[in-house]
Formats: sequence, C-alpha cells, structure tokens
Amino acid sequence: MTAAIAALEEAQIYNGTAAPGRVLLLESNDRVGKKILATGNGKCNFTHEKISGVSYHTDDRTVLEAVISGFPTEAVLHFFERLGMLYREKNGYFYPLPETASTVLDVLRLRLSELGCEISCGVLVYGFENKSGGFQICFAEGEKKRLVYAESVILATGSRAGGFLQNKNTDPLGPAKCLGLRSTALYPSLAKCICREDFYYRQLAGVRSQVRLKLYGEDQAAVRKFLRQEEGELQLTKEGISGIVVFQLSGKIAEMLSEKRRVIVEINFLPEFSEGELSGWIEERLSMLPGRCLKDFFLGVLHKKVLDVCLQAEGLKGTQEIPRGDRGKSFRMVSSVMERALHFTTEVTGVSDIRQAQVCRGGLVLSQFDTKLECRKLAGCFACGEVLNVDGECGGYNLHFAWGSGLLAGREAMKRALKNRRRRGIDGRE
Ligand SMILES: Cc1cc2nc3c(=O)[nH]c(=O)nc-3n(C[C@H](O)[C@H](O)[C@H](O)COP(=O)(O)OP(=O)(O)OC[C@H]3O[C@@H](n4cnc5c(N)ncnc54)[C@H](O)[C@@H]3O)c2cc1C
Repeated sequence: MTAAIAALEEAQIYNGTAAPGRVLLLESNDRVGKKILATGNGKCNFTHEKISGVSYHTDDRTVLEAVISGFPTEAVLHFFERLGMLYREKNGYFYPLPETASTVLDVLRLRLSELGCEISCGVLVYGFENKSGGFQICFAEGEKKRLVYAESVILATGSRAGGFLQNKNTDPLGPAKCLGLRSTALYPSLAKCICREDFYYRQLAGVRSQVRLKLYGEDQAAVRKFLRQEEGELQLTKEGISGIVVFQLSGKIAEMLSEKRRVIVEINFLPEFSEGELSGWIEERLSMLPGRCLKDFFLGVLHKKVLDVCLQAEGLKGTQEIPRGDRGKSFRMVSSVMERALHFTTEVTGVSDIRQAQVCRGGLVLSQFDTKLECRKLAGCFACGEVLNVDGECGGYNLHFAWGSGLLAGREAMKRALKNRRRRGIDGRE
C-alpha cells in the first residue's frame, strides 16, 4: 500500500496534476492490509522512536542501512500525518491516536482511493515473465487465469508469518521464484518457544513475571556459550515461554535449533536481586522470620507457582520447616531455592509454527537488490517489506521497515516505469 501511494504520488510530480502512471495492486485476500488489523494487539504499533540498523537481522547491512537512513522515524510519522493520522508514543512505541489498528488501514486505503489506485482483491499472483522490457504478470481470479502487462513490478508479498490471516493458497515467495530470485531458509521469529521440561510449564501456565532471560548455545562438547540477554515480562504457557522477552530471542533460537544446536535459556525470576547481597539478605530474613515453613518464608517474594516449581526442582516441599537450630542447614535450604529462582534453566526444543509467529526470519536475499530496492539483475523489478530477508525486533520495527521500504520501492518503480516509457517513445501523458 505504501509502495502504491509513493508510486502514484511520484507520477503526479511528473505530470503536475493528473497521474500518467497507473498502479494496479493485486491482493489474494478479500481485502488489502488484513494483517495490519492484528498488529500491536489490535492497536498497531506502527513505528519506534529508535529505528536503527542494529535492530534488524539481514544478509546485507549496506542496503538495509541505506533504506533505513532514508526513512527514519520522523519520515514515517510525517507520512502518516500527511495522511491525516495523529499518533501517541508509549515507551518509544508509536500507536495511532485512537489506538485502533483499523485507523492505520483506513488512512492508507483512503489515500489509495484519492490517488486512483486500481485494486483487485481475491486474486492470486502465481507467475511473472520478463517481456518487452517490462513484465507479464499472471494471476488467478477464481477459476479464470488473467494476464496484465506492467513496466515495473514491486514484490510486496510479505511472508507466511501470521498465516492464519491469509488466504491459505497464498505463496508469498512464489512470484519471486518465477523471476529466478534467490531466497534464504525461513524461520519463525517473534514467536513463543516450547521447552523440554513441560511438567513444570503445565504448573506455571498463566504466570506473568518480570524476568531477566539469558540465552546460551551449547556445542557438541556441551560447552555453554552466552549469546544474549533480555529483560521484561515473561509469560509462561503450558508448553513453555512467551512474551516480548522471548520474541526478541526466538529468531536466533529457531536458527540455532535448525543447526541442531542445544538451546538453553536461563530465567532469573528475581532480576532486582544482586548476587553479592544474597547471603546477607538470606541471613537477615532467617532472623526476621524464624520458625516459618518454606512456603511461608518465601511468601511475598516469589509467585506461588514459581516457588512450587523451584521447591520441586530442589526436592523440597512447601510445608517443610526450616530447621531452627542448625543455621548452616537452614541457610543452605533457603539458598538452594533462591539460586533456583535466580538461575532457572530450561531447554528450548522448539519455536512455534511460522503461521503463529509475528514475522518470518529470512526471505529474498537482500544483496540481490540495490539501495533503491531494484533487483540488480532485473531492471524494473523491486521488492519491499517482509518478503525481503529483513526482520526486526518487537516494537514497531517490522511495520516501519514495511512502510519505509514500500515508499522507496514505489517511488523508484514509478520513476523506472516512466523512464522506460519515455525511452520507448510512449509519452506518459497520452
Ligand atoms: C499477529 C501479528 C502482530 C504484529 N504486530 C506488529 C506490530 O505491532 N508492529 C510491527 O512493527 N509489526 C508487527 N507485526 C509484523 C507486521 O505485521 C509485518 O511485518 C508487516 O505486515 C509486513 O508487511 P508486508 O506488507 O511486507 O507484508 P504483509 O502485511 O504480509 O502483506 C503482504 C500481502 O501480500 C498478499 N500476498 C502474498 N502473496 C501473494 C500472492 N502470491 N498473490 C497475491 N497476494 C499475495 C498477502 O495476502 C498480504 O496481504 C505483526 C504481525 C503479526 C502476524
């Protein structure tokens, strides 16, 4: 949609008022932009205050940086303001002022209609042919096969992530493959993870807790290597772990699992506690609350379900008395539970299916495209958004890239189309 808007606005610049260039938007769903409605829990977190290349995963940093630097946060905010949409910022995340994702979709659709964009929904693009310097696009409309000629094309077919929102026959990479474009392996990203110790998770399901998560990879010699850490709210499910802290690690985890590497996550359920002060804290609490059983000793410190699992892992029971006379034994008992809560390790054995993930890691190899997002080997073929091998962190980064890369590809694709027509002696104004 942003590509179509930019292309039609570019055509207006060329002609002054009436657009000489036409844009046809082909969409397999029954309406355009359906995925937007599900974003940000229905509120659409459409960009982030700190957009930078480091928040993205890709195969070509140069192209990525060129695209991002041309469309910083302000450019995307300005674009939506121009369309009439005001916004609100919360902890660096931007939302439309009415906090409804439908607002974002509506302003885009309105602008498309103002610019006279032609839209065909319920059509499945299945092929392309490079013809007469342009492209023959093949698409199916129900049983009917149709063809349309275009001077330039923009692949904006997204990915299978969030597939529950898509026409099930849609193959986002299908059209690109017809053009001989290369793609990487695909992994789910921004997704929940499945853990081996499911007997714990069946008890923990539903718990939400502020945590620090540390990701480790283990090689064949069982050497554990620290990779990355995240802090924030963890959601426990009956199969494993979820929430933004997990989403941020999930793309990397999916890649590691595909390489048959063992993935260990350490959960610190008490990130406020400093390890250095732990002994002093235990001693003080033992003096303050003498004679309590374990469950009562930890009351007010740990979530009850988290405590139950930590006790179970240590072979202890909540009703067990903390021995009064033996300070060393009572210290060891309490300390083992605390250590478990601070370093709760779990093995991740899977990441949820790509159709349940928010984004896809992988896609069309970015280095096939130049800094204007035109295919280096196929003049007139552009790509933008999630179909490319670019995925960002949680927080508005993915939509930001979709809007920004769309605006760039749209503008450049129209320039290319108009140039082609002039070169071939067809005046765009006819
Ligand atoms: C549940 C959920 C929540 C999310 N929340 C956020 C968020 O808050 N912030 C954020 O930044 N990102 C979020 N994302 C990610 C974000 O929605 C995507 O990164 C973004 O929509 C990608 O835009 P796109 O235009 O590249 O692809 P898409 O939005 O996937 O659009 C591609 C379109 O192309 C159509 N299509 C594909 N193949 C064909 C074909 N062969 N023929 C015809 N049509 C075809 C599809 O039907 C689709 O409508 C979320 C994703 C999900 C699933």
